[in-house]
Order: sequence, then structure tokens, then C-alpha cells
Amino acid sequence: MLKKEIVRLLTGFRQFKEKFYAGDDSVYSKLQNGVQAPKTLIIGCSDSRVDPAILSSSGPGELFVVRNVANLVPPFDPDGGRHGVSAAIEFAVVNLKVENVIVLGHSQCGGIRALLNPENTMAGGFLQQWVKIAEPAKTRAIALASSDDSVPLWRLCEHESIRTSLENLRSFPFVAEAIETRGLTLLGIYFDIEKGELLEFNDKTESFTPISL
Ligand SMILES: [Zn+2]
Repeated sequence: MLKKEIVRLLTGFRQFKEKFYAGDDSVYSKLQNGVQAPKTLIIGCSDSRVDPAILSSSGPGELFVVRNVANLVPPFDPDGGRHGVSAAIEFAVVNLKVENVIVLGHSQCGGIRALLNPENTMAGGFLQQWVKIAEPAKTRAIALASSDDSVPLWRLCEHESIRTSLENLRSFPFVAEAIETRGLTLLGIYFDIEKGELLEFNDKTESFTPISL
């Protein structure tokens, strides 16, 4: 017998099918034949509370999404390794030619906590190694926190890690070229879970400001 939680998921799939497969003019009738043309790539966190499609009320085919611990983008590193995040970015930018790339961070991020408190994670594990990508963000956040204690260190680090991911995105030659030649837009957005609010990173002021909707 299936576990209760699995039954819930399958019931959810039935509802999904009723919504998106119903009739000759259904959403999926237009998304078949290998066609997808999302305009936006979102790099978000694996956290269960921050699903980009749910947060943006997007439907099938609208977003190309990469999710990982702490919404990190590694630097461009053509070393022949198995770079899953970099492969997804390449596919979205080079093949799908998305118009926007959004790095979506959030408050209460477990990945950022792991970066700040590695002693709470498995020694020598994948998590410790992965979040080191945001080491420059940690360094900047600690410096900021030492001069202004009005914002908690974890929040500063969550903000700075979005900036690190944006900087790393620009290190990919095909991203830089798409920005230059066809106006690819890069955006850093932070979801404040407590307030239910979105903040946007402003390049000029180098700060995050609430987005008014
Ligand atoms: Zn997170």
C-alpha cells in the first residue's frame, strides 16, 4: 500500500492533469512536439518554501529553473568536470536564448547557515564543499556586519551570496556575450519569507530594495 504522502502527490498529479490536459486547446497541447520557449531562467534554492513557479504563479513552459542549495552559481570553470548548474545555464542561454536570468535568494536559507556554521554540517561532506562557492559573500558579509550590526549576519550573507552568483554568471563567456549582443538581463531578487516581500538588488546603490507591486 502506498504511503499517505505518496497518495497525496498522486492526487495532486490528477488535479494537474485535469487543469493542463483538458480539451483540444489545453496548455500541454501547445507544449508538445519538443517545443519549449521559456523567457526566463531562474536559479533558486532547493528550499521547499521557495519554488519559483509557485512564487510567480507561472504555468508549464514559462520558466526554466535550476535549483540547488543556496541558489549558487559556480564560477566559469571549463575543467571537464560534471558541472550540472553550468550545463543548465548554458542550455538556457545558448540553446533556449532566454531573455532574463534571475538569481532568487531567500531568508532563513539553510545553505547560508551551513556556510556560516560549517560545524553543524557533515565533516568533509558535499554540503560544506558546495557552499564554499559563496565564500566571497561570507567574507563581505562579515565585514559589513562588523561596521553595522542592525542587519543580522545571516541576512547580509544571503544578500551577498546573490551578488556572488551574479558575478559568477558574468564570468561565463556566453552569458557576457548575450548581455552584450542581445540584451540578456541579469537580476538578483531576495524573497523575505517572514514579510512575504520581494527585494531587488540595485547595481547602482549596491543594496537590496523592496519591489513595490
Ligand atoms: Zn535556501
